[in-house]
Amino acid sequence: MSIDFTCQKCEASFELEAQDLIEGTEKIICPHCDSKAPANLSEDFVAALTEMRAQIATLSKKYFAVTLALEAEELEDEIDDDDDDADEEAEDDDLDEDEDDEESEDDEDYDDEAEDEEQDR
Ligand SMILES: [Zn+2]
Repeated sequence: MSIDFTCQKCEASFELEAQDLIEGTEKIICPHCDSKAPANLSEDFVAALTEMRAQIATLSKKYFAVTLALEAEELEDEIDDDDDDADEEAEDDDLDEDEDDEESEDDEDYDDEAEDEEQDR
């Protein structure tokens, strides 16, 4: 599972493997301008990713294989027309990995923090 990032500062796009982020071999840093998110935000993101991956693996084993694309634009303004551009990538990358059963049950308010991040500080 690879994730596309677009730097808010220099608008460079780059791609990281979720696996690498989860294992900590890659950090979310812009390769062009070295911009990066605050450590706690990055950690929360990776924790959420880890959890998401575990859930997808579990669901896929017995019930439904999952392919999803989340785009920040879609999260920001929830436009009301449903565009069905789903089947872009229907390949299942490494679903046979062992799932980490990490239970991160923090109930933080991610919405607020995402907003903050956009305004330059
Ligand atoms: Zn950048």
